[in-house]
Amino acid sequence: MRAQARCKLHPEVMSGWSSALSVAITLPYTVTTSPAGLQIAVDGSTYTVPATFNWVPGSTHTLSVSSPQDGSSGTRYVFSSWSDGGAQNHTITAPSSSTTYTASFTTQYSLTTAVNPAGAGTVSPSGTNWYVSGQSVSVSAMASSDYSFSGWSGDLTGSANPTSLIMNGPKSVTAQFTAIPESISTPGAPIGPSSGYVGTAYSYLTSEASSNLGHPLEYQFDWKGDGTDLSLWGAANQQKAWTVAGQYNVRIRARCSLHTSVVSEWSLGTSVGIQRVFQIGCSDDGIQCLGRTDGGNDGNNLVNGKPKLDVEYEFKITSRILGARQSM
Ligand SMILES: [Zn+2]
Repeated sequence: MRAQARCKLHPEVMSGWSSALSVAITLPYTVTTSPAGLQIAVDGSTYTVPATFNWVPGSTHTLSVSSPQDGSSGTRYVFSSWSDGGAQNHTITAPSSSTTYTASFTTQYSLTTAVNPAGAGTVSPSGTNWYVSGQSVSVSAMASSDYSFSGWSGDLTGSANPTSLIMNGPKSVTAQFTAIPESISTPGAPIGPSSGYVGTAYSYLTSEASSNLGHPLEYQFDWKGDGTDLSLWGAANQQKAWTVAGQYNVRIRARCSLHTSVVSEWSLGTSVGIQRVFQIGCSDDGIQCLGRTDGGNDGNNLVNGKPKLDVEYEFKITSRILGARQSM
């Protein structure tokens, strides 16, 4: 604006115009958020709203918001729209009347899931995820092979699986698992010779037992049947050479290779009769070797100085036998 003066008595006497003075007419404009209290940037500066600005109508300004914005723990706000329909970051031209610009945000809550004990299973969704307020979220638990799902703790209860929860606030859920007790089935009675001779090794094996958890097994033989002559833990097929003649009750048990305290019952016993072996030589006094009863011929009828175990020999006693030597 500018001004000029004139004389009241002689109005035709008039000054020139003054120099101009610029006067800006401003209006208040409000920028806020829904929910209130979040942050916006106006013309590059950040404010916690609501904030009011005095702008000249027709002037241009930038409105922008960052998204998401953190609220209290487990809560955040995600930009959804401006009241004037503008983009998340946009420029406005101040209109001719006071105006309020509102940035609307959607409230989200976190759902954090966990597994107990660690490694006992999985839960879905896992970790921390964000959901819109009011959303129903399906949650499921899956046990590892040696565990069973036992229920929920935290913001879920019971043991329904899968189940769901309503995200009406930050949530924390733990899937609880219980270890399945391991048991080993009793092996079958050892299979092998029911008779034999001292000093000869015989093989025995069992139909394999099993772990309810599918774990690998190892086996132990009880060669006598009273727990006093135990094999090392090992394969389901082991050999034994008894050193003393007698009647034995061979039995076997199994245990988990991974959890060696988990042991099966003893199997039924297999009766094994072990005989002494006598060595008779053809050159022994009072002995004449006549040959094999089945007509076979194997030289002096002896193997390593002993009669073969699986064939019969005929001997002739040519004089009184004074004694026999036990081979072992
Ligand atoms: Zn095991």
